[in-house]
Amino acid sequence: MRTAVLVINSGSSSMKYQLVDVDEGTAVASGLIERIGPSTANAEHHFAGNTTVFQGEIEDHAAALRVMQQLFIESGRPLRSAALTAVGHRVVHGGAIFGDPVVVDSTVLQQIRDLSSLAPLHNPANATGIEQATRAFPGIPQVAVFDTAFFRTLPAAAYTYAIDRTVAAEHRIRRYGFHGTSHQYVSQQVAIALGRDVEELDQIVLHLGNGASVSAIRGGVAVETSMGLTPLEGLVMGTRSGDLDPGALLHLLRSGLDVDQLDTLLNRQSGLLGLSGVNDFRDLARRIADGDAEAELAQQVYCHRVRKYIGAYLAVLGGADVITFTAGVGENAAAVRAQILSGLEGLGISVDDARNSVRSPDARIISPDGSPVTVMVVPTNEELAIARASARLVANGAVAGSSRHALRSKGKAQP
Ligand code: ADP
Repeated sequence: MRTAVLVINSGSSSMKYQLVDVDEGTAVASGLIERIGPSTANAEHHFAGNTTVFQGEIEDHAAALRVMQQLFIESGRPLRSAALTAVGHRVVHGGAIFGDPVVVDSTVLQQIRDLSSLAPLHNPANATGIEQATRAFPGIPQVAVFDTAFFRTLPAAAYTYAIDRTVAAEHRIRRYGFHGTSHQYVSQQVAIALGRDVEELDQIVLHLGNGASVSAIRGGVAVETSMGLTPLEGLVMGTRSGDLDPGALLHLLRSGLDVDQLDTLLNRQSGLLGLSGVNDFRDLARRIADGDAEAELAQQVYCHRVRKYIGAYLAVLGGADVITFTAGVGENAAAVRAQILSGLEGLGISVDDARNSVRSPDARIISPDGSPVTVMVVPTNEELAIARASARLVANGAVAGSSRHALRSKGKAQP
């Protein structure tokens, strides 16, 4: 392995990681640490077909990184032997400051923290993960890759909300968009799979996972996306409402709910979960098969919302060459794909049932031959995209000596 990048995705109480062989484009090892904090934590590490587990207290992200390193050792492939080129971090919000990936120094770290008011659930955890990884892997460049970056190209008409412009400017309220690493990666994979240049294609990408978003991409450049100031806007998600009349929030506030209750309601108790009691499409499918009317309605609401966005983005683009499904639901739920696109034949969009029912880890076309709009399923791989971006940055000499110096001189700053 000539170019090895450790990719880290830190949540407030979790940490996902993957060791990526950038030359081969493969995951060498991966893991998930959950329930970091005062309760009993769980860690699972996967390497060479084996799973190594840890259970016990992992009090903070520094401890989580120590457990991760120990799991690498126990699995027989210590991280030390990987000769890391970089550690790549997923950072959710880059605000209006960050576009391209950056090598993190103390200034960048502070800027990521300063963006926390825009992403209170994510950016503080991302920053803590970077800070601790800097200590755990001294001398290895830490690269931040921003979920918002791909959407920096949105035109003003798409990113501007129609509210008082002074209030918007003061509070940095605009559409930023999220899942950008996935939308960009998938749109490039579409072009590769079709043997076309990405510049030639107008695309709609449907990232349907626990979180869900859709983007319109003209010639490789993002021009519209469904997530907004936060990852709450747009499609119906596992536990998030997506679009909602802002008047409903005012109504609930006046009815006595406080801000934290609203936050919990919209981010954790809404979406498929709020409508049906379950947030996973596999459970939803079982309930629908059992004749559960609430589950049936939840799926209809979900599909209707996606379809509405497809119509809107066809108009934004003036027609699309390709519509692509990706992420957990998009890659696996054939029935949901079919339901979303049913009745769109008049727009040149249809699904071939036999192709749609094939299960495969590969990029594939599911529309009939000769369709005006090609419909595809393309697996996303955000970790690989982050690893590649990190390796490219370091190879281009972007490791400012000053950035490492700055971190070192920061000494034992408290997290
Ligand atoms: P995340 O946003 O957490 O990365 P994923 O992209 O992994 O989420 O998507 C997770 C979701 O994908 C699950 O909640 C479930 O709804 C859906 N999913 C995963 N596998 C299947 C499957 N085989 N059939 C239907 N839905 C699936």
